[in-house]
Amino acid sequence: MSLSRDLKAGIAMAELSDGGVIRGQVDGAPALLVRRGHELFAVGGSCTHYHGDLARGLVVGDTIRCPLHHACFSLRTGEALRAPALDPIPCWRVERSGSLAFAREKLAPSHKRLPAEDARSAPASVGIIGGGAAGLAAAELLRREGYSGPVTILSVDESPPYDRPNLSKDYLAGSAPEEWMPLRPESFYREQKIELALRTNVVSLDAARRRVRLHEGDAREFGAILLATGAEPVKLPIAGAKRPQLHYLRTFADSRALLALSGKAERAAIVGASFIALELAASLRARKIAVDVIAPEEQPLERILGREVGAFIRKLHEAQGVTFHLGETVTRVDGRTLTLKSGATLSADLLVLGVGVRPALGLAEQAGLATDRGVLVNAYLETSAPGIYAAGDIARWPDPHSGEHVRVEHWVVAERQGQVAARNILGRREKLELVPFFWSQHYDTTIRYVGHAEKWDAIEFDGDLERMDCAIRYTRGGRVLAVATLGRDLEALRAEEQMERDATG
Ligand SMILES: Cc1cc2nc3c(=O)[nH]c(=O)nc-3n(C[C@H](O)[C@H](O)[C@H](O)COP(=O)(O)OP(=O)(O)OC[C@H]3O[C@@H](n4cnc5c(N)ncnc54)[C@H](O)[C@@H]3O)c2cc1C
Repeated sequence: MSLSRDLKAGIAMAELSDGGVIRGQVDGAPALLVRRGHELFAVGGSCTHYHGDLARGLVVGDTIRCPLHHACFSLRTGEALRAPALDPIPCWRVERSGSLAFAREKLAPSHKRLPAEDARSAPASVGIIGGGAAGLAAAELLRREGYSGPVTILSVDESPPYDRPNLSKDYLAGSAPEEWMPLRPESFYREQKIELALRTNVVSLDAARRRVRLHEGDAREFGAILLATGAEPVKLPIAGAKRPQLHYLRTFADSRALLALSGKAERAAIVGASFIALELAASLRARKIAVDVIAPEEQPLERILGREVGAFIRKLHEAQGVTFHLGETVTRVDGRTLTLKSGATLSADLLVLGVGVRPALGLAEQAGLATDRGVLVNAYLETSAPGIYAAGDIARWPDPHSGEHVRVEHWVVAERQGQVAARNILGRREKLELVPFFWSQHYDTTIRYVGHAEKWDAIEFDGDLERMDCAIRYTRGGRVLAVATLGRDLEALRAEEQMERDATG
């Protein structure tokens, strides 16, 4: 990124058209000068999530959105308004003098206090079951909004909340160090007075009393509860295959175990051609391990992205040396030898199952909450029991865009749901109106996807898939339900904004 323009030295305002962005720096830190109508804003130029270049993002009203993972920041305060970024970007006061605009004075980040009315009606305590994307985002937001009551995260995981999407990507490939993985340092929980109880399995929930029982027999009661138990890998029985030979990839421990084994393995077999399975294949190829992918479908990912895009992704992987066995299943494992349905055999030192996940509904079902292939929530993320909310991979919510109840397994959606649930726990009555967004990374190709299309009747291609410069629209009855992009990050942001506008009329 060029840091040549010094915003301290002044920029001619005539250079900025409405909605225009000038990239520069203040004291060596990337900064942007943005014009919106008659207003000028000066904010940091680097996203606090994964350092996306905000100058390549999209200005919407008084916000700016990151092209990488669609984080959204306030141009007025720098606050990270929407996940995946949780930390603010810097913000400077804009001074005007003659024809020039200057950014010299850095503004202190604002600290919110809960309005007295909200403080009176806020629950006495909040218990969050699940220390993943939704759980951490909710806890963080409760504190950011000024809630001062006890906040407890109960998580069966042994690790503090971490960057789960990276488990199959750079972390496993070896290009992201351990330090990148925690979403927050341990000091955060101490300083924010968030009780983080790890290795803590919640075994039952009394919905009427908002009381949970832990596996050690202890019980805890809360003023409000957020259920954010995520999903679990589907476990297919394969004759002859058992742990420790058989692996899954959901937790930090799973990824560390694969990392440890990848040092010795020469050949890996991955059963399933899901996003996670294919990302895992790419990471193992980066480690020079031979990879076979065995899956029953005709093209990988065709159910989500369609046949043509699936075939393209398959080619990407084949070019990197991955061998696909499609229309196949593994019928038997004998030591290192795998027998496929066709009778063919393969050998593998490492066997990983990546055939999808199931929402972790055990607690919700035991508690008698309304479920339907997910925990049913209303637009405020309230479950059928008062004071109990649900967010993330388990939540099935009324999607204003499709008019249907939907459940997705996307990182950003889980975090944003956690944030909206937290605001509603504080009595804000904020409707969940997000447009679903996910990304997936295969070598140096990233697919971004906005919207939600379980079924479509047409796929429109705009651009060139082979050149990785393409937008793919999934439509039903002429209406765009979802857009996938390759090499067109700004277009993905624009599509998201358009879908937001369509939904609000
Ligand atoms: C390897 C991998 C790569 C991914 N890559 C992407 C990607 O590139 N893009 C994308 O959009 N999405 C991606 N995802 C999906 C994304 O990570 C999930 O959608 C997201 O983590 C869901 O958040 P959540 O809070 O609902 O659940 P999780 O993050 O799974 O957290 C659930 C938490 O609940 C805890 N828990 C469960 N049951 C109990 C219990 N009874 N008691 C106590 N604690 C419990 C778990 O230990 C965990 O801490 C990926 C997922 C994986 C596994």
